[in-house]
Amino acid sequence: MIQTAFLGDVVLTTPLLTVLAERHGPVDVVTTPAATPLLETHPAVRRVIPYAKRGADRGITGIVRLGRALRAERYAFAYLPHRSLRSATLAIIARIPRRIGFADGWRLLYTGSRQRPATGHEVDRLLALADVASHHQTAPTLGLTAADVAAAEAALRAGGITATFVALAPGSIWGSKRWPHYAALAEQLADRAGIVVVGSAEDVALGEEISTAVGRSGGRCVSLCGQLTLRQSAAVIRKAAVLVTNDSAPLHFAQAVATPTVAIFGPTLPSFGFGPRGPRDRALGVDGLACRPCSAHGPARCPLGHHLCMQSLRVEDVLHAIEETGALHRRD
Ligand code: SF4
Repeated sequence: MIQTAFLGDVVLTTPLLTVLAERHGPVDVVTTPAATPLLETHPAVRRVIPYAKRGADRGITGIVRLGRALRAERYAFAYLPHRSLRSATLAIIARIPRRIGFADGWRLLYTGSRQRPATGHEVDRLLALADVASHHQTAPTLGLTAADVAAAEAALRAGGITATFVALAPGSIWGSKRWPHYAALAEQLADRAGIVVVGSAEDVALGEEISTAVGRSGGRCVSLCGQLTLRQSAAVIRKAAVLVTNDSAPLHFAQAVATPTVAIFGPTLPSFGFGPRGPRDRALGVDGLACRPCSAHGPARCPLGHHLCMQSLRVEDVLHAIEETGALHRRD
């Protein structure tokens, strides 16, 4: 499989990987260096081949070099869930005789194409690539190791988190998808649970803002932004009573580890197919805004300047959604 899309997309591809592994045996996956750790321990995966399409492997030189390396493996099939010209070209250079992609991708470069459902959840749309209408495995999965779990537990202990906690994931690579009220939410929650902030090195300032706010109210908060690997972060989310997140990769991590999720949607909609699916999960957004949704991914900044799709989603609304999950009453 060649899947070089964003981290969240890679996580949502894991049910498809499971189906393909049942059909063909464990799968070799070409993916981004960032997503490599997410797949290298996955039970459906035999080997991960990192492809730095915007780094050391960029341009046609990189495609040809990697394509030749793949050619030596004599693969029989290439599955191409990402509708990318680069991926299709790579499979051709690798001389993979059967290349399966979506009909609305680069159809002329494939030897077999499947209709990508126009609606439904992204997991199910991706499963259509394997001609599977439904499958027992519709939640994403991650191959967390004992070492990942131990590292997560050690980080929580070091941060003084020893009982029920709420995980917050305030980041997103798309600025307009960041809900701006996480610190106020954390202050409100701090007398009921510990607060743990998860995120990348880019989210350190957000984590500090939340920690400072909780500290003011006398609560317990630790920011692990930039301190853990992706799998260790998923292991932290697994231990949380509930995760509050934007429409970003941690949402899909929570789905993979079955943690109740409150997902906040601003410029995008859950109906795009990337929302949480668990019976206790909640997806929130501001209804009635004429400008919403404004793009498929969410722009870096609100093009109208007011960012009402996020600014006007209140802390009370998120607290209510957390109550509806029942998570703070049920898990330790
Ligand atoms: S244009 Fe509307 S939907 Fe888009 S970011 Fe601004 S407020 Fe949100």
